[in-house]
Amino acid sequence: MAEFDFDLLVIGAGSGGVRASRIAAGHGARVAVAEEYRVGGTCVIRGCVPKKLLVYGAHFAEDLEDARRFGWTIEGKRFDWATLRDNVAAEVDRLNGLYQNTLDNNRVTTLLGHARLIDAHTVDVAGKQHTAKTILIATGARPFVPDLPGAEHGITSNEVFHLPELPRRMVIAGAGYIATEFAGVFHELGSDVTVINRSDTILRGWEPALADRLLQISLAKGINFKLNCRLERVEKLEGGLKLHFTDGKSIETDVLLWALGRVPNLDGLGLEDVGVALNEKGAIAVDAENRTSVPSIFAVGDVTDKVQLTPVAIREGHAFADSQFGNTPRRVDYSAIPSAVFSNPPLGSVGMTEAEARSVHGHQVRVFTSDFRPMKNVLAGRNERALYKLVVDGSTDRVVGAHMIGPDAPEILQAVAIAVKAGLTKAQFDDTMALHPTMSEELVLMR
Ligand code: NDP
Repeated sequence: MAEFDFDLLVIGAGSGGVRASRIAAGHGARVAVAEEYRVGGTCVIRGCVPKKLLVYGAHFAEDLEDARRFGWTIEGKRFDWATLRDNVAAEVDRLNGLYQNTLDNNRVTTLLGHARLIDAHTVDVAGKQHTAKTILIATGARPFVPDLPGAEHGITSNEVFHLPELPRRMVIAGAGYIATEFAGVFHELGSDVTVINRSDTILRGWEPALADRLLQISLAKGINFKLNCRLERVEKLEGGLKLHFTDGKSIETDVLLWALGRVPNLDGLGLEDVGVALNEKGAIAVDAENRTSVPSIFAVGDVTDKVQLTPVAIREGHAFADSQFGNTPRRVDYSAIPSAVFSNPPLGSVGMTEAEARSVHGHQVRVFTSDFRPMKNVLAGRNERALYKLVVDGSTDRVVGAHMIGPDAPEILQAVAIAVKAGLTKAQFDDTMALHPTMSEELVLMR
């Protein structure tokens, strides 16, 4: 009889956990995955996927508007939130089923219920104990909600997909990825949106010229911003909420959405009982192989708070499974990770910002920008300009950063990321013939 019930027990069936389970099972391991909610995790159930579908749905507002200048007459246009919401929910259900099939087809046992570590090889799931030679924690992260009076009256990105009706007014606290994305969505769908943030900036950490471009375009579209502000308390009114700020001012709204970052999901995992150490950010501390302070326990994805992006968690889960169960030790390469914000218009970025490059490469850095009005926007009479920026190490001529805001920027950026990751030079960009007429041709025409 085997020493343990399973070779691997994964806690959390999100992006990292499902990938690790599937690959480990493929290597012949006996695998179980514990999940307390729905298989698929944040990205599939209440993150990237439903968000992107809402972004598509919302963009029709402008597309239908612009269509007139292209000769189309659209009469009786009307938006129905329930239709979009329910269709998105149905697609999430479909994907949830596919994820479950993937686990089943790979002979991974699904254990439904909350998991708690009992010792270095034992996990309690919904009152039943299971043993495993190796345990992987992949519980992800959850939205941070501040500790202030009335905070419970706000919702998070978990609930925003299920709103019973389209809010007339929405305040979004925070100005990072989630805030700017949902500001775009709900503004286009017709809500009166106000973004409030503690600092005087949006998308901190992004190339400032692009963040500023998004701010200017968003203001012109009619999204409100209240920057440099501190929320003091949230008051529940008869038909809405009243937000009180430390400067004595207040705003009323129907919905308050917290988008202030995400914190690792550690609650009730029993980490302290088993001795799994945390790092200075309060996330699970892991070494380069994703091993925690307890040798038989590993962790991947947002619960380690390295880079909170789905593809990173997937790579970590895959490398873990290959290393521990496939005899092929691998480590994740965290260099040049592309990232996008699906705001309106969207941003894409890979590599260093100009400021980061200057701190690494000093005055050698050369910067190229293209500030242009996409052809489609010109005919549509839409006064929105795109901005592309290449950051080049002057001593090697390598393109060390590419940043863009404009229509389809994330789609274009993924291809540019290959060039940046490969260390191609500005001369090699310039050697490439332009593909005309496109927006992306600007990438090889910056002189
Ligand atoms: P972000 O870290 O992107 O932004 C957080 C925002 O909240 C910032 O504006 C920040 O202000 C503000 N903030 C942070 N802490 C506090 C606090 N204690 N009090 C008041 N304000 C605060 O977080 P999000 O929630 O938007 O997203 C979480 C993560 O999820 C992202 O970092 C990203 O990794 C991932 N994600 C990725 C997406 C994508 O790839 N497209 C989409 C959605 C999420 P400031 O910085 O100005 O000080």
